[in-house]
Amino acid sequence: MDRVFNFSAGPSTLPLEVLEKAQAELLNANGSGMSVMEMSHRSQAFQDIIDQAEADLRDLMNIPDNYKVMFLQGGGTLQFSMVPINLLRNSRKADYIVTGNWAKKAFEEAQKFGDVVAAASSKDRNFAYIPKTTRESFRPDADYVYITTNNTIYGTHWNYKALPDVGDLTLVADQSSNFLAEECNVTDFGLIYAGAQKNVGPAGVTIVIAREDLLGHAPENTPIYLDYKIHADKGSMYNTPPCWSIYIAGLTFQWIKKQGGVAAIEKHNIEQAKRLYDAIDNSKMFKGTVDPEDRSLMNCTFVTGDADLDKKFIAEAKANGLVNLAGHRSVGGMRASIYNAMPDEGVDALIAFMQKFETENK
Ligand SMILES: *Cc1c(COP(=O)(O)O)cnc(C)c1O
Repeated sequence: MDRVFNFSAGPSTLPLEVLEKAQAELLNANGSGMSVMEMSHRSQAFQDIIDQAEADLRDLMNIPDNYKVMFLQGGGTLQFSMVPINLLRNSRKADYIVTGNWAKKAFEEAQKFGDVVAAASSKDRNFAYIPKTTRESFRPDADYVYITTNNTIYGTHWNYKALPDVGDLTLVADQSSNFLAEECNVTDFGLIYAGAQKNVGPAGVTIVIAREDLLGHAPENTPIYLDYKIHADKGSMYNTPPCWSIYIAGLTFQWIKKQGGVAAIEKHNIEQAKRLYDAIDNSKMFKGTVDPEDRSLMNCTFVTGDADLDKKFIAEAKANGLVNLAGHRSVGGMRASIYNAMPDEGVDALIAFMQKFETENK
């Protein structure tokens, strides 16, 4: 096979088993005589697919009955707008923790809709850490507090056991790049969302998990697609949902279950990330770019300190079947995205290549 190890930050590598299953079912899914791409979203065959996907996700994340699951379009970016439109409902205040580019974009978008402030930020050190907050960091009447649990571009993440203390305020999380990668308590959050294309499937579906009481408060003039309540009431079928992306996400949920669920995936992710970070820390050439205690399990960012050497590394890695290792255009250096589907062989090959490159370029 001529597949490469793909370290892309998103869209990103998918489990080979999922791709093979989709390939096997491409022309005739579940005996329907057609591809999932050709099915009516109103057919029983597709209803079974979306119901199974939701049931498996509820199982994997232990989602309580008073939370709705929605499969929407528009990416993480549309959630930057939908969250404030739907959740700014009493004081119309929201407090954001700005830990990177995506958090900043969400924060700036929300400012269009209400009294939105940055309660904390790690901009002072180029987003290389997760800022500490206390209950007093947040306005007592804020409609919600917003965090980005994994910062895809800078390579930091929140420890789910050390989430900000928001008291009884509603916590909202963009989990786009660590969805189903680390165990989280859904009830710690009022709303969680994640674009699929980092950890669960192709681009085109965004999963929203929201506590029921938060829905139904969008202003009268809200465009119909942007009202969570519409989607929740219609089981994500108000209009044509992204059927194919939901199908692949469903196959990925089944794959995660087969791996032992999120706890087993997290354990594996911790071990895999540790091997890579150890290799960086034990090297004289490569340096990590963020505070070690806040390092992401999904996006490992590192540099040599010499932009030309970084370029050489990225090019030679690519020639060796290790692709998409360039850091985001706003930060440079290297970023190895090692999402759930990255096999151990991929990380081991990267580590071996780093060691070889260091020896050859002393
Ligand atoms: C990729 C990403 C987004 C943006 O997703 P789009 O689907 O491109 O809109 C938002 N938040 C995080 C954390 C991301 O990694």
